[in-house]
Amino acid sequence: MNLRLLRVCLLFFLICNINFSQINMDLDIIRGIKKPDLVGDTILLESRTHKAFEKMANEAKKDGFKLKIVSAYRGYDRQKQIWNNKYNKFTKTHSLEPVKAIEEIIRYSTIPGTSRHHWGTDIDIIDGNFPDEKDALISSKFEEGGVFYGIKQWLDLNSKKFGFYLTYNNNPKRMGFDYEPWHYSYAPISKKILNKLIESGLKQIIQKENINGAEYFNDEFLTKYINQNILDINPDLK
Ligand SMILES: [Zn+2]
Repeated sequence: MNLRLLRVCLLFFLICNINFSQINMDLDIIRGIKKPDLVGDTILLESRTHKAFEKMANEAKKDGFKLKIVSAYRGYDRQKQIWNNKYNKFTKTHSLEPVKAIEEIIRYSTIPGTSRHHWGTDIDIIDGNFPDEKDALISSKFEEGGVFYGIKQWLDLNSKKFGFYLTYNNNPKRMGFDYEPWHYSYAPISKKILNKLIESGLKQIIQKENINGAEYFNDEFLTKYINQNILDINPDLK
């Protein structure tokens, strides 16, 4: 092999590797089935998200806030458990019709395989200065008079500097998931993952999920779910 050809091959190899190492686009990873490379012990995060979060937490500490992650990476099986439990609760205990039960679930919870928590880039944050706060993830607690109002104000002002954006903001025109003042996403990575997920033929994938109520996922429902729950998010994350 001549030297020039060798150089071209080497360059090609390097470019390919840079692209692959920038973000792992394996669909099974994006859907939570295969575990990505994660950092942490109980709270697991994608490595660049982890680094950015550490920086943000250090900065918050200087202002007296203790950024505490209550939920980060979550795999497909855990999401399936959450889904099936809620489906059973709504259809059995609350006697809702299946379609109504599904509507109720997707106010806050995703269909397994479509959760942003599968990516390791999305986190639910509270103020660790209030460790005894039970049922912390309630919107009113992040509003004026609530225990997490201070940290919410700090995050409104500072999180973007570190790449974190509120995913399900309080824009009254936004459809899909309800307002979640605690759920932040690390934009530099999660934007790329969202694009890959959308390109993957999501509708066909969801239709085949083996979860409770999946027989009610008709075409109309799936189009609405993708357009509203997956895509109608903070525009800074698209
Ligand atoms: Zn969340």
